[in-house]
Amino acid sequence: KRTPRILDGIAIAGQIKAEVAVEVQALVARGITPGLAVILVGEVPASQIYVRSKVKTCGELRIFSEMLTPPETITTEEMLELIATLNAREDIDGILIQLPLPKHVNTKRLLEAVSPDKDVDGFHPMNVGRLQSGQPALAPCTPAGIMEILRRSDLPVAGQNAVIVGRSDIVGKPAAMMLLNASATVTVCHSKTVDLGSVTRKADLLVAAMGRPGFVTAEMIKPGATLIDVGINRITDAEEVDEFFPGDEDRAATFAKRGSVVVGDIHPAAFALAGAYTPVPGGVGALTIAMLMQNTVTAAKLRRGISLGN
Ligand code: NDP
Repeated sequence: KRTPRILDGIAIAGQIKAEVAVEVQALVARGITPGLAVILVGEVPASQIYVRSKVKTCGELRIFSEMLTPPETITTEEMLELIATLNAREDIDGILIQLPLPKHVNTKRLLEAVSPDKDVDGFHPMNVGRLQSGQPALAPCTPAGIMEILRRSDLPVAGQNAVIVGRSDIVGKPAAMMLLNASATVTVCHSKTVDLGSVTRKADLLVAAMGRPGFVTAEMIKPGATLIDVGINRITDAEEVDEFFPGDEDRAATFAKRGSVVVGDIHPAAFALAGAYTPVPGGVGALTIAMLMQNTVTAAKLRRGISLGN
C-alpha cells in the first residue's frame, strides 16, 4: 500500500507569493503600485484575524493596502457611499468586503456595488457570469487556490470524476465551475443529497466544503482518491480531539496550549486511504490569501490594459 502524498498548501502558497512579488516589482518599475482596500465592519474576532493577515501579506509583497473599519452600526447606504469612493480611487485596484457582515446590511447589494474590475473576491455577478462562460475573470480565491494546488502538484483533472460536497457561492459552486471548465465530470452534493457516501465513493477527486468537522469518513471515499479538504472547524472538546487525532502528541500540545484545534470536513482517518490529500491546517486555507494577492495584481493589470502574461 502506497503512503498518501501530502499536498503542502504552505509551500505552494509560498511559490505563488514569490511570483506575485516579482509581478509587483515589474509594475512598480512602470510607476504602478497595486493597491487593495479591505473593509472590515464591526468587531468579529475571526474576521479581524483574517483581515490582519491579508494586510500583512500585502506589506510583504509590496502591495499598497488600506484597511477601513466602519462600526457595526453602519447602514447599507453608508456602505454604498464608502464603496463608491473606493471604486473611484485611482490608487485602489482591489476592494474586499470581509464577510460576514452584520445582519442589518444588505450583503448582496453591497457585493454588486463593487466595481467588477476591482472585485478581487470574484463575488460580483459579472465575474460569476464570466467564470461560468469560461472568460478570464477575477475568480473566488478559495476555489482558485484548489485549482492551483491541483495544477502545481501535476494531479489530473480532465476526465476525472470530481465530487464537491457543498454548494456555497464562495466555495462549492465556483469550485464546481472551475473543475468543469477544466474538463472534470462534476457532481455537486449538498444537505439534501440522498446517500452521500454512494456519491463520494465514486470520486477520483473529492472536494469537501461543508463546514462539518470530520464528516467525510474513510468508508465514504474511494481508495487512492485525491482529497481536497476546505473545511476549517475549531473543536474545543478534549474527547473529540482524541477521537479525531488519537495519539497525536502535536495536536494534544496545541490543544493544551490554546484550548482548541482545527479539523477539516474530512475525517483524518480517511486521509490514510487517499492517493493525495490537503492537510488541515496547511492545505487549501494557506492558498486563499496568496490568490487574493494574485487577484489584486491581475486587477491592477486588467484595469490598465496590461496583458496578464508579463
Ligand atoms: P456554507 O455553510 O456556506 O456551505 C456549506 C455547504 O455544505 C452547503 O451547501 C450545505 O448544503 C452543505 N452541507 C452542510 N451539511 C451537509 C451535509 N450533512 N451533507 C451534505 N452537504 C452538507 O460554507 P462555506 O462554503 O462558506 O464553507 C465551507 C467550509 O469551508 C467551512 O468549514 C469554512 O470554514 C471553510 N472555508 C475555508 C476557506 C479557506 O480555506 N480559506 C474559505 C471559505 C470557507 P445546503 O446548501 O443544502 O445547505
